[in-house]
Amino acid sequence: MTKSLKFQELEYIRFDPCAGDEGEVSCRTIRLVKARKQHPCFLGTAPGEDGHLIQPGDVYRSERALIDGDYWGNYAVCVPCMDKWLTDIGHRPRVQIAI
Ligand SMILES: [Zn+2]
Repeated sequence: MTKSLKFQELEYIRFDPCAGDEGEVSCRTIRLVKARKQHPCFLGTAPGEDGHLIQPGDVYRSERALIDGDYWGNYAVCVPCMDKWLTDIGHRPRVQIAI
């Protein structure tokens, strides 16, 4: 089964839900991966959001980073959230890529 993404993979990778946060982030590893189990979407956990989940089989953006040299954070963000965000900041869907 193939799924097409609205935006290029690089645009999802560059998407940064933590932009503007204080704190030092290092050792970042960002990948687009297919979920093997449910993950809460990082943006869905924000106050007032619906707390939606990324379902097994869905593609999501996985980010692992060392925060303030102190602890490892894992952030999962679903594609619909990134689509909305990328559209909001003026990105236009381009080529359809099959993954
Ligand atoms: Zn989401």
